[in-house]
Amino acid sequence: MINTRIICTIGPASNDYETLQKMYDAGMTIVRLNMSHGSHKSHSEVIEMINRLNREVPFPVGLLLDTQGPEIRTGSSELDLVEGDQIRIEVPPSPEKADGSLYINYPQLIETVNAGDKVTVDSGLVNLKVMEKGAGHLNCLIMDGGHIKGRRHVNLPGIHVDIPAITEKDKSDILYGMEKDIDYIALSFVRDKNAAFELKKLLGENGNKIKIIAKIENYEGVNNLDEIIREVDGIMVARGDLGIEIDMEDLPAIQRGIAHLCAVHGKGLIIATHLLESMIENPIPTRAEVTDIANAVFEEADAIMLSGETAGGKYPVRAVEHMVRTARKAEQHPGARFVKEMIKESSFQHIAAAAIQLVNDLKLKGIMVFTQSGQSAITVSSFRPTNIKIYAFTDSGKTRKTLMMYRSVFPFLIKFHDDFEETVQSALEVLRETREFDDEDQIVVIHEIMTKGNLVPSIQVRDIKP
Ligand code: PEP
Repeated sequence: MINTRIICTIGPASNDYETLQKMYDAGMTIVRLNMSHGSHKSHSEVIEMINRLNREVPFPVGLLLDTQGPEIRTGSSELDLVEGDQIRIEVPPSPEKADGSLYINYPQLIETVNAGDKVTVDSGLVNLKVMEKGAGHLNCLIMDGGHIKGRRHVNLPGIHVDIPAITEKDKSDILYGMEKDIDYIALSFVRDKNAAFELKKLLGENGNKIKIIAKIENYEGVNNLDEIIREVDGIMVARGDLGIEIDMEDLPAIQRGIAHLCAVHGKGLIIATHLLESMIENPIPTRAEVTDIANAVFEEADAIMLSGETAGGKYPVRAVEHMVRTARKAEQHPGARFVKEMIKESSFQHIAAAAIQLVNDLKLKGIMVFTQSGQSAITVSSFRPTNIKIYAFTDSGKTRKTLMMYRSVFPFLIKFHDDFEETVQSALEVLRETREFDDEDQIVVIHEIMTKGNLVPSIQVRDIKP
């Protein structure tokens, strides 16, 4: 398995056991359940298949629930829009009619936009400019025309949308996810830290078992990143919507900025959308896509994500294979560290930094860390050590699954003993069984030991051989 983690969205192209198995063999580490599509029943079928797969494979696949969020959509009618024509937009409470108007399900749309504002439909394919506001409707000029199928996604670039951060649908999906023991929640359209507070309230006691990922999808999210990042476990650069909501040419710099901020704060980073878009139709990627994947690895992403490629594309398994091959090569490239200094607030962070230094200086085989909550392993991973494997040992199956998101972490389940030395010995035995080590190899062990009632971080260099 490579150090970078691969998230695959599951849909009609991949929701059968054989394909999931092949995607696992190709390198899939996390499954994404996209709540904008499918039903609880269809998602439960996928979860059951993953639970079955997890009983058979060496490393478990984690489950990421991605909320729909405060999305605006068109009605169910299909329309053909011609560039240069005008179109009338109707909103609730007007009922949807088959009279050639475009119906949009956001009641406040009329009062929210002004003449000159842009309304974008279907991920930027159709673009409209507001010409005038009427009583209960808008007249728009069709800037870019095309065929609109039913229930297409609508964006209002640069405009504050007055929909709660967590909608009623999101709440029901999150409660469903908690019942199904999902590992991560990706919260869509996070605009400020309040969205994270609201989610934590909803998660209650489960809050510390489920990792929260804030999807950054518009200017408000970008502008409030400093406050958002402190309240969440990780950030997803959701380039699909972000590329519409902001000027697309700003996207590369924003991605870099977010990657930098995640590295400095030691937070998880997911780069999402269009990494292999052409593979929805084609068996090989474009050169630009391959370079995009490599750049995400150079930017020290924990995980890179496939959406339509694995959910609805023709080549879900090949897409994972291409992603893994490209990421592996990029990981081997001896580039400069992306971030020189990350913020270190705890003594354990200093121990983690020292462990990384030791492995590099003495050319050791990796870092062994013991963790119940997973936090120690996440802390080491958050330094994004180049080509250093973090062997995380935990006595919790849930923690083990959660750790699958983090770059370079290879989590194992073992029994913890009262005598720490006994625990270390059983962990070393597990490593020897992987047959990845030679007799003369050594490894750094970091752990917090209890002395006179206080936890003291400790660091040791140990032989792999008995
Ligand atoms: C995105 O917009 O890039 C994204 C990941 O979100 P969604 O697919 O839910 O629109």
